[in-house]
Amino acid sequence: MASSVPTTNPEVLRERVRTLKKERRALILAHNYQVGEVQDAADFVGDSLELSRKAASADADVIVFCGVHFMAETAAILSPGRIVLIPDPKAGCPMADMITADDMIRWKALYPGRAAVCYVNTSAAVKAECDVCCTSANSVKVVDSVPGPEVLFAPDKNLAAWTATQTSKTIIPWDGYCRVHNNIRAEDIRSARKKYPGAEVWAHPECRPEVLALAHRTLSTGGMVREARATSAEEIIVATEATMIYRLAKENPAKRFYPAHEMAFCANMRKITLAKLVASLESMTHRVVVPPDIADRARVAIERMIQYG
Ligand code: SF4
Repeated sequence: MASSVPTTNPEVLRERVRTLKKERRALILAHNYQVGEVQDAADFVGDSLELSRKAASADADVIVFCGVHFMAETAAILSPGRIVLIPDPKAGCPMADMITADDMIRWKALYPGRAAVCYVNTSAAVKAECDVCCTSANSVKVVDSVPGPEVLFAPDKNLAAWTATQTSKTIIPWDGYCRVHNNIRAEDIRSARKKYPGAEVWAHPECRPEVLALAHRTLSTGGMVREARATSAEEIIVATEATMIYRLAKENPAKRFYPAHEMAFCANMRKITLAKLVASLESMTHRVVVPPDIADRARVAIERMIQYG
């Protein structure tokens, strides 16, 4: 079977996706940071929590995950009977790589008796060592739900710091961060507000605390999608990965969205293209498989996260 795609014509590629999807009984999931052509070809676009739920309830033989590797691993863990593919296996998350399973084991040993919460942006092996996962949409609920006054939180120090402002628990953070969000500075927000004085500022909790302090709202990507429909604001400066604006603008044509930082692009998310999606469906590559002993332990932490909502 051909593994290369002889055309880059978007209409031809979209038609190939439609045909292959039926042939393979495939479901295509895409993260909100995926490029527009991939979002448009997907069955469902969402944030990590929404995509985890979709993967868990999928009625399909194949799930093609358009996102980064840890997301596809999560889908594979939640859908053990299904084939999970990622169109580019090199689409990783540098923040997820900032902690290993051995790091987590050693860290927990330093703080016995504390619950370990790990952001969904971690490898399956790290998830297997933690008590419960969370996303940026439910980190506060998860931290509030675990026992004890002190909680370990990995790997994102910025999400940890923001979550700590929303809970009475003491959070002990790992020193990780997302380069894309961490590169958005308070100065970028001030400049954008000067340029668009009537605009609200929405920021993702992976941003630095000083950026969040200047924002009107702190929202996950799913929260931004919902708030964009509900808000009466007509102009919004968005402090997150800049591709997010594609979906916000598409769904809310009467409103205007501006990136807080013009270059806030995740190079890994952008590795997934429409042509690679077609190639993935054609050749049934690249399959994401999590060893059963790791998957079984990680699934406990992920399912707790989904239960917390
Ligand atoms: S935007 Fe940041 S957290 Fe998200 S995949 Fe890219 S590097 Fe990882």
